[in-house]
Amino acid sequence: MSEKSGIVILGIFAADTAYKAKRLPYIAETLMGSGFTLGPGGKGSNQAIAAAKAGGKVAFISRVGDDAFGAMALAAYAEAGVKANVMKMEGVSTGAAFIFVDEVSGDNAIIVVPGAAGLIGIEDVEANRAAIESAAIFMTQLEQPLEAALHGLSIAKRAGAITIFNPAPAGAIPDSIYGLCDFIVPNEVEAAELVGHAIETDEQARAAARTLVDRGAKAAVITLGARGALYHTAGQSEFVSAFSAGSVVDTTGAGDAFLGGFATAISEGQAPIEAVRLGCATAAIAVTRPGTAPAMPSRAEITALLR
Ligand code: ATP
Repeated sequence: MSEKSGIVILGIFAADTAYKAKRLPYIAETLMGSGFTLGPGGKGSNQAIAAAKAGGKVAFISRVGDDAFGAMALAAYAEAGVKANVMKMEGVSTGAAFIFVDEVSGDNAIIVVPGAAGLIGIEDVEANRAAIESAAIFMTQLEQPLEAALHGLSIAKRAGAITIFNPAPAGAIPDSIYGLCDFIVPNEVEAAELVGHAIETDEQARAAARTLVDRGAKAAVITLGARGALYHTAGQSEFVSAFSAGSVVDTTGAGDAFLGGFATAISEGQAPIEAVRLGCATAAIAVTRPGTAPAMPSRAEITALLR
């Protein structure tokens, strides 16, 4: 069998449309807003772009509609060097997110409509079986239907790929998924939901990571926002501090930046703790820029921060 290489990511694309206003409108009211941005988003898509910009060889499995947002997705993959194993569907819209941003507090409220990507299923995984089986890394999340994530992880695991599972957004998952994870990578909120207790202290983070490993994951990486990340296995438990790359402008997509950098380093054969450092450095740069996919740094920028 040929040498395994590259990163295959299964997930969704959603065009992020962000509207800024002093408050949400009431029903039947029209409110004047103060700003609008449009850009590529969706966790899996952001992770694919982050990994490619960090130097990974990346293929992305997804679905988009035959519309302007779908064209935006494909243009973003061409620009970042992501191989798009993306089905273009007639008569279904591309995924889109309505993001309301409170102009005073910065708080947001989001509606995500996965559109074509909501129809991703086992058949999409089967259509990409050869790519998954020859990949060094398979990574997925939970924005597309769970059955597709489970099927992809099972095929990858059986083929001997390294599996990375980002259980996001937070929600219930079957116990059978843990044994399919070489790395389970939740943020604090997702980890708290999975283990059923708050994660406010380092000890609580360690306890949560221990639970995820006890359930069958080989390693747990819990991202802790501006505090950095925890790497935990049965034999090693280590915190990595966040890096500072300048003023923080927009933390949206920090987790995706982390995963892109982390997966790239693992695909290069780096030790997991070094991959966590590279993930933290990738995210530290991304948070100094607006947007999600457009904020992802190049490998040269990441390397300069790690020095
Ligand atoms: P999001 O949902 O906003 O995409 P997340 O909640 O999934 O992000 P976080 O745990 O907030 O993920 O952040 C992921 C990683 O990004 C952290 O482990 C850390 O390395 C880095 N990071 C997050 N916030 C900051 C910050 N303010 N400064 C530097 N690094 C940060």
